[in-house]
Amino acid sequence: MYKSTKFIFVTGGVLSSLGKGLSAASIGALMECRGLTVTLLKMDPYINVDPGTMNPFQHGEVFVTDDGAETDLDLGHYERFTHAILRQKNNFTTGQIYDAVIQKERRGEYLGETVQVIPHITDEIKDKIRGLGNGVDVAIVEVGGTVGDIESLPFLEAIRQLRVDLGPQNVLYVHLTLLPFVKASGEVKTKPTQHSVKALREVGIQPDILICRTEKKITRDIKEKIALFCNVRPEEVIAAEDVTCIYEVLLNFHDEGLDQKVVELLNIWTRAPILDEWRSFIQAVKSMELSVTIGIVGKYVNLHESYKSLNEALFAAGVKNRSTVNLKFIDSELLTSETVTSEFSNVDGILVPGGFGSRGIEGKIKAVRFARENKIPFFGICLGMQMAVVEFARNVCELEGANSTEFNPETSYPVIHLMDEQRSITDKGGTMRLGAYECVIPENSECHTIYGTTRISERHRHRYEFNPEFRNILEEKGLRAGGISPDGKLIEIVEYSDHPWFIGCQFHPEFKSKPMDSHPLFASYIKACLDYKISRESKGK
Ligand code: GLN
Repeated sequence: MYKSTKFIFVTGGVLSSLGKGLSAASIGALMECRGLTVTLLKMDPYINVDPGTMNPFQHGEVFVTDDGAETDLDLGHYERFTHAILRQKNNFTTGQIYDAVIQKERRGEYLGETVQVIPHITDEIKDKIRGLGNGVDVAIVEVGGTVGDIESLPFLEAIRQLRVDLGPQNVLYVHLTLLPFVKASGEVKTKPTQHSVKALREVGIQPDILICRTEKKITRDIKEKIALFCNVRPEEVIAAEDVTCIYEVLLNFHDEGLDQKVVELLNIWTRAPILDEWRSFIQAVKSMELSVTIGIVGKYVNLHESYKSLNEALFAAGVKNRSTVNLKFIDSELLTSETVTSEFSNVDGILVPGGFGSRGIEGKIKAVRFARENKIPFFGICLGMQMAVVEFARNVCELEGANSTEFNPETSYPVIHLMDEQRSITDKGGTMRLGAYECVIPENSECHTIYGTTRISERHRHRYEFNPEFRNILEEKGLRAGGISPDGKLIEIVEYSDHPWFIGCQFHPEFKSKPMDSHPLFASYIKACLDYKISRESKGK
């Protein structure tokens, strides 16, 4: 019998940053624990076609999928919480919708009609949502923005219509709100939730389930009050208490009866959820005996959201090594020859992540040098790898002034440069080397020991590349290729063996790390940092 996909729409009210993405991801994980297949979608209300051209200070990390889509960071949560493989179609923006509608209009596809928000924009949104199902049991759709914003209205109208189109048993609305605790009166307040639900009902959507963020435990009375004013049953009010580890969210949701309610309302028969793996993972997180501190040298250090996947990858590698990973964010612009020793005095590893633009570049190069000379475990990712190459060229190979042509187009030693395909590109959006590429790992390399295989696939997001003209000079001095593109043209990983752990990779391994399946490079790096810490402490440093 043909099985239709059930849709769960997740909206948010009161405030932004309440954790809609985590809630959607957690619902996905719970559905998988019941043996269902899931997919997820994020609809973003801004006009940019994708977040690729947006400043990380404003938007946080750009998450990259295997097929090279530059997407919202919530897709990172979705992939980490579930087994769904996400693609371009799992994230769209208002900009993309308008772009598609305007192109159709120019091609004459609307046959003389006046093109309007309803039905043309909403139909385009609905088509994209429907196209997502593709045989999965449950599609979870997160509506970006906060209810009441002008921007997200067409999305809300589209999801309102979909319940009528697909039938009430196939569509569920979950609304996330906040229950603020007012210290002066010592009470949890429900009014903002009531107003938020009112705003949603004004556009024709009656939420089925409310997830209420709260710092304090809430009583049955409060649930009853919310239920009464918001037109739901008390058991449809789910308390989402603050947690210390984000992966606990799904266990709390389960304890509150969320997944049971979802399958009941959507009329899905499933097995009882199997949560053992998540429970033992959380158990492992709570019983870590060790700790390491990693110095992260970058320019987006004031907004940790910019390094979301990186932070999660380090966390997962920590759990694998039974260690808490403390992150010390160091602003590369403030790193000088005078400050470098004190900044790194208490770190067990140095990591230079990806980045764009020349600000703070010399600080990053200083960080690499410090790590190399003091034999502190070093991990360079994308721009971090490029800076490791520049540092090595300058200070070991004596190529004075070596640089990436991104920062000095006139350098005599362009160790990092643009490949021919990139030289002619003028549009900035979506034109980098993006998405998954295969990479060959030489058998005698450190990376071979780490990955345990000779062929890997990793995700990229960059324009510049290691210049193969310099490969021999650098290899002679010990900076070797630990990963090469299958055609032999591109150096994807560099490694330096005369060092406890020194690896730079052109790709972003953090995008493929999962909480319970830590990425081999990160797991091995954290292990090296733990070993370094022991040797540092034994020397009394
Ligand atoms: N700016 C560098 C490039 O475009 C590195 C990019 C990155 O770190 N993601 O190649």
